[in-house]
Amino acid sequence: MKKITVALAGNPNSGKTSIFNMLTGARQHVGNYPGVTVEKKEGLCKHGDYEITFVDLPGTYSLSAYSIEELVARNFVIDQRPDVVVDVIDSSNIERNLYLATQLIEMNVPLVLAFNMSDIAEQRGLSFDIDQLSRLLKAPIVHTVGNKAKGKDELLEAVREIVERHRERHPHIVHYGDEIEEEIAKVGLLIAEKEPKLAVKYGKRWLALKLIETDSDIAERVESRDVLDAAEASTEHLRSIFSDEPEIVIADRRYGFISGACQETIKSTVESRHSASDMIDAVVTNRILGLPIFLLLMYLVFFLTFKIGQYPMGWLEWFFEWAGAAIAGLWPVGSESAIKSLLVDGVIGGVGGVIVFLPNILLLFAAIALLEDSGYMARAAFIMDRIMHKIGLHGKSFIPMLIGFGCSIPAIMGTRILENKRNRFTTIMVIPLMSCGARLTIYMLIIPAFFADKVLLRTGIFTIRTQALMLWMIYLIGIVLAVVCAKVLRLTLFKGETTPFVMELPPYRMPTGKSICIHMWHRGWMYLRKAGTIILGIAIILWVAMSYPKPPAESLRGLNAEQRQQAALKYSVVGRVGSAMEPAIKPLGFDWKIGTALVGAMAAKEVFVSQLGIVYAVGDVEKGAHSLRRQLQDNYSALTGFCIMLFCLISAPCVATIVMTKQETNSWAWAAFQFLALTAMAYVITLAVFQIGSLITG
Ligand code: GDP
Ligand code: MG
Repeated sequence: MKKITVALAGNPNSGKTSIFNMLTGARQHVGNYPGVTVEKKEGLCKHGDYEITFVDLPGTYSLSAYSIEELVARNFVIDQRPDVVVDVIDSSNIERNLYLATQLIEMNVPLVLAFNMSDIAEQRGLSFDIDQLSRLLKAPIVHTVGNKAKGKDELLEAVREIVERHRERHPHIVHYGDEIEEEIAKVGLLIAEKEPKLAVKYGKRWLALKLIETDSDIAERVESRDVLDAAEASTEHLRSIFSDEPEIVIADRRYGFISGACQETIKSTVESRHSASDMIDAVVTNRILGLPIFLLLMYLVFFLTFKIGQYPMGWLEWFFEWAGAAIAGLWPVGSESAIKSLLVDGVIGGVGGVIVFLPNILLLFAAIALLEDSGYMARAAFIMDRIMHKIGLHGKSFIPMLIGFGCSIPAIMGTRILENKRNRFTTIMVIPLMSCGARLTIYMLIIPAFFADKVLLRTGIFTIRTQALMLWMIYLIGIVLAVVCAKVLRLTLFKGETTPFVMELPPYRMPTGKSICIHMWHRGWMYLRKAGTIILGIAIILWVAMSYPKPPAESLRGLNAEQRQQAALKYSVVGRVGSAMEPAIKPLGFDWKIGTALVGAMAAKEVFVSQLGIVYAVGDVEKGAHSLRRQLQDNYSALTGFCIMLFCLISAPCVATIVMTKQETNSWAWAAFQFLALTAMAYVITLAVFQIGSLITG
């Protein structure tokens, strides 16, 4: 058995993942590239006496190190040196796809071109002179239909042939014109002399080209000052000749080469007419209809994720409740056992708390896969881009932010649809400001307690009532803060250009069930394995902090069940932290009871309500909501009520969110930053509101 590694490269949506699945079936392994949160998928395939490891590189349009994905894909190719690179090309959209191929050829890697989507190309009446094209591109070409698993054997054969027959390769396929070629030659000679090791590893022509293109990642690998200076001088010289960036001129020459190659080898047998895609686009990206259609589809995504997700979530909750009761039943009635409590409240409660999110995550990723595979995502980004760009985000950021209204956990996972790291991180940081479903339970407790439901305005069509207005205001405050914070982050921490928006829309396609299932499965598994374990651990730690230390038995004598619970919570670590916090939160209008509930709310926002029920000794909050509201009314002003909502909206996200942020940014530092920055902001804003409010109301 000979072991080889084959990398799959290709544009997004070219069918790379389909080809990967066709080749490797279920034998896949998903991980991350070291140090970055770009997903790395590997799979195994046997062909003849070869055991081939396929690596699915991130989808990119180019390898210019413009985005993290491009950098990851390129570094894999030049540093890991796979035995063969298969470039998956959407052959119905060939010119654009060949840009990446051209760059790969220039990198002098053993290359096979998979002309995928050949069914669509055929439908469009495209015919290729494969021999000629293969000669021009100096790489074998195989036709494939990824989603129907056609062309597998041919592709594997081509890979084997490339490995066995050490063909002479010619990375020098594009001629960049005399001026540029002269500079390439000059810098190349210097590289061969000063950096012989690099020249052998990467090829002097390619290195020179990259340096002239001012590729900073490559420049960092070069030590010789002379080489860098010479390259800089060449770039400057070319800039003055073309009065444009050499990088752009070089890209233009590549496109020129591709367009020429295509003209010679591709014929269209039907005259181009309006394709179905163009007709759908006329409606979907229409100036007037585009936005309503987009909002409607977004509503459907939200509906699917949370409204439909509510049912399996309910079943799971029911199941964990049942399991908890069943285990509690193993102990005699009324016995107080620490193990029972750990199992029932800590472990089952914690596992349940992790697994209940799973339906939402699966459904969200099914919806995202549908939008991406069908080709609509590119349009959605285009429609929202005009608005989102103003706050420095990408059009696609809208989708995770919207999901944030349901729950931050799937929302943060959903930021994976953003290619640009700065956009992605900014979106992750502001997602907790989108008021999630758990916080709604807090508003539902507080608003009726302090605000009588008066009619404020009656028009013929609608009436505005106090309680609805309050709720609307809280949500709006969250959105406004998210927009402001996003803008600030983009101007400071995540400064930098957004990737230029390429308005090239892939054709619409029918998504396949298999591809959607694979998407869902990977996300769900990743959530359970990576985030779930940490969330569970922290949930158990919080459970310990809420249950220990236990108050001495004599202090509980003569108390009823509710009072005992109250005393136990006050005695526990969480209760003590809440009390210790009192001086700090007093200026916000809060006392130790609210403090204790706030600490408990870190486990999950809705815990705030049940904790408040315990510190006010009203027992079961669902039954005691009315009496809890009475207690709140008697103890606090409406201003404090409003400040509680404000603080819960802005402050520290729940632990599950923090863990998710750590997972998706690959750094505890960013998770801590999010936690601290949001809490500090909540403190300052609530302080201002309470102090100014107190002055006004006296
Ligand atoms: P990736 O972004 O490059 O990984 O692309 P995917 O493998 O996710 O494919 C994008 C969409 O194109 C999916 O809906 C696939 O089912 C579909 N697809 C993939 N290959 C073909 C093909 O050869 N023909 C057709 N008609 N559709 C394909
Ligand atoms: Mg893919």
